Amino acid sequence: MSQPPLGDSTRVLHAGLPPLVPGQPFLPGPVFAAPFVLDPVTGGEGIDWYGRPHNASRRHLETAIGELEGGDCLAFTTGMAAIGATLLSLLHPGDTVVLPADGYFTTRAFARAELAPRGIEVLTAPTAGPYPQFEGVRLVLVETPANPGLDVCDLAELAAAAHAAGALFAVDNTTATPLGQRPLELGADLVVASGTKALTGHSDLLLGYIATRDGDLLARLRSWRDSTGGSPSPFDSWLAHRSLATLDLRLARQTANAAAVADVLAAHPAVDRVRWPGRPDDPAYAVASRQMARVPGVVTFDLRGEAEVARFLTATALVIPATSFGGLHTTADRRAQWGDDAPPGLVRLSCGVEDTADLVADITRALDAV
Ligand SMILES: *Cc1c(COP(=O)(O)O)cnc(C)c1O
Repeated sequence: MSQPPLGDSTRVLHAGLPPLVPGQPFLPGPVFAAPFVLDPVTGGEGIDWYGRPHNASRRHLETAIGELEGGDCLAFTTGMAAIGATLLSLLHPGDTVVLPADGYFTTRAFARAELAPRGIEVLTAPTAGPYPQFEGVRLVLVETPANPGLDVCDLAELAAAAHAAGALFAVDNTTATPLGQRPLELGADLVVASGTKALTGHSDLLLGYIATRDGDLLARLRSWRDSTGGSPSPFDSWLAHRSLATLDLRLARQTANAAAVADVLAAHPAVDRVRWPGRPDDPAYAVASRQMARVPGVVTFDLRGEAEVARFLTATALVIPATSFGGLHTTADRRAQWGDDAPPGLVRLSCGVEDTADLVADITRALDAV
């Protein structure tokens, strides 16, 4: 008889745990090693022999993320290492790639600096569309919800369009996390993501990963990673795996906080253009509610100018001025300072796991001070 599917909290708690061994921890501690001991007769055959390609702590983490994404996972030092590996190893001179016009700005900057000079044509499209024809395109990479604007695109529809044109389809799943959406199930060939953000959520490590069901892509990317040295350290891998266990709990509170904060922002006269795909009046609401299991805790809004943002960040007691997002602590930053071609007053606020009433009261006070 088939069992009912396990819930999210159960899945993240058990994801990637090796078989239980009496007298040992549930999750074995980090395996610190550069070389491992070889067999004096057979050498390194069938065993771990060197830390760049092999590490048990990293493998446990990859098993965990792979289970959650529904594919095979390769961990990288950072999200950009995973994205760079994907773009550089799968694209060749003469190829065309489509990237988000409004997604993570470093991906676009990387493409301008590293792909264009290699003879790769870089097209961009806004996440909410319109998209160009994909004929002649080798790889379409989308990011949904897009960081920082939080537009959303229909993954199943775009995967079908990319495949009809013979293009590979990759999804940056950083903002949603695999508990928010599972792009591989919707037809994506590849997930690329930063694990630095909500996936691990403690603002204390950098991590990236790719996930795929395609054995050839996996082999190509593994060979790239293991020869360029983009593998994360045993300690970061272990710490990330430990942090995964609370992903469902953290996201649940972050989403609840974002819903309450978005309401406060939308009602406040100091604020323009609140974006949160969980609000029924948000342009991304329809696609987000049919595609996503939950909407993440990031809210974007416009305080109209740099001075207003400074007043907001000075007046708040709970919102820590910091970039990145998805952590336990509520953080916010002014996007235009990063050359993000965002309006000068655009703020990305990442809700943490504070008590909702405290956060709402603090943000209301800070907005009144603007
Ligand atoms: C942060 C981020 C990245 C890059 O991840 P790092 O771990 O900082 O390298 C890529 N994509 C998105 C959507 C991000 O938010």
